[in-house]
Amino acid sequence: MAEDCLFCKIVAGDIPADKVFEDDDLLAFKDINPQAPVHVLIIPKKHVPSLDGLEEGDAALMGKLMVAASRIARDLGVSGAGYRSVFNTNKDACQEVFHIHLHLLGGRKFSWPPG
Ligand code: 5GP
Ligand code: ZN
Repeated sequence: MAEDCLFCKIVAGDIPADKVFEDDDLLAFKDINPQAPVHVLIIPKKHVPSLDGLEEGDAALMGKLMVAASRIARDLGVSGAGYRSVFNTNKDACQEVFHIHLHLLGGRKFSWPPG
């Protein structure tokens, strides 16, 4: 757990969240400010700041996170129509919370390129 990390506090139960999935390594919860009908954040419970600087030792954990994202999308009923999965990384991509999280957005049509 990192001091002053919002998502570590959610993992610890110090801040409430609307959870959609949890296991020993991962937590998924609804974004507080949803940008689509389905907007879930999937995080490792371990504090990893960002996709930038990810290490070889994180490979299994992040692979597990991607598999969980695939299952959550199916469980939430957006996989057939399609969904967007996004890691915002550092300033230019508007990363605000420096505990790595995969945004899973679905339930509406998205455009490309993203804004
Ligand atoms: P970022 O810009 O870092 O990729 O995204 C951070 C996300 O965390 C934003 O979509 C924001 O709405 C969400 N968020 C920020 N604070 C909270 C919170 O306290 N609870 C939940 N569930 N989501 C949060
Ligand atoms: Zn953290």
